[in-house]
Amino acid sequence: MARAAVQRRLNWLRATVLENRPETARVHRLLLDVPGWPGHLPGQHVDLRLTAEDGYTAQRSYSVASAPEDPRLHLLVERFEGGEVSPYLTDELRSGDLLELRGPIGGYFVWSSAVDRDGGRAEGRRPVQLVAGGAGVAPFLAMLDHHRRTGGSTPVRLLYSARTADDVLAPDVLGPQTTITLTREAPSDWRGLTGRIDRRMLEAQTFAPTTRPRVFVCGPTSFVESTATTLVDLGHDPSWIRLERFGGSGDPS
Ligand SMILES: Cc1cc2nc3c(=O)[nH]c(=O)nc-3n(C[C@H](O)[C@H](O)[C@H](O)COP(=O)(O)OP(=O)(O)OC[C@H]3O[C@@H](n4cnc5c(N)ncnc54)[C@H](O)[C@@H]3O)c2cc1C
Repeated sequence: MARAAVQRRLNWLRATVLENRPETARVHRLLLDVPGWPGHLPGQHVDLRLTAEDGYTAQRSYSVASAPEDPRLHLLVERFEGGEVSPYLTDELRSGDLLELRGPIGGYFVWSSAVDRDGGRAEGRRPVQLVAGGAGVAPFLAMLDHHRRTGGSTPVRLLYSARTADDVLAPDVLGPQTTITLTREAPSDWRGLTGRIDRRMLEAQTFAPTTRPRVFVCGPTSFVESTATTLVDLGHDPSWIRLERFGGSGDPS
């Protein structure tokens, strides 16, 4: 049984692109129909594989940005100028195109209110703190939307760093539990925070270590590393902190 599940997960599936639409200036939303999709937990990702006419293949990972309850798979892809795969996905891919995809992948960077309900009373009462840099918000959109759809009662907060107000992804899913900080420029009527996520911001805007939150941090590698180090400095137990690094060492947000 378990072996069958593992084998199914590792198979490449054929996904049809239903829509490829710009979400912000740098990020596109891919809506995929994946026949045979076995379902996923919020936080899991997929691998996409592109094959050129000469047989050359390139493979990249993308977090599933939609809740398990959504029949279509949503991916949010940030375009890296000069990147091998992301400019193709954002700029070239059209509705009706086929992609090779495998997943869901990952059993570590996942959280769902259903798991909380079944996973013991003490676990369920611990708050969940999410911290995102840029497109690193993608897996948290799946978590938040799932939490809303299932009426979960676990306290959840998201601290989300974006470059500008126009770069904020999926504002409709974020909800009142989200605090946004803009790092580049803010409109004159901006009521949220400004500046990078640092020690002071983490201390003021996230669940205190005394509440023993489970913490998830996702974004570019440098963002994830510095945030995790600061959280530990603030007194969070390293074993409560789960990290997803999107790669790169550049400016996250
Ligand atoms: C588990 C996992 C989940 C991921 N989920 C997503 C997702 O939901 N959305 C998404 O857009 N990306 C996601 N990524 C990153 C994605 O897999 C690719 O790395 C990214 O799309 C760049 O691929 P590329 O071929 O365009 O660039 P490449 O040709 O691989 O790299 C081009 C240049 O961009 C730099 N670079 C690559 N990625 C980043 C980054 N994240 N930040 C800063 N610089 C970078 C590289 O260092 C290099 O200099 C995820 C990665 C992992 C490991």
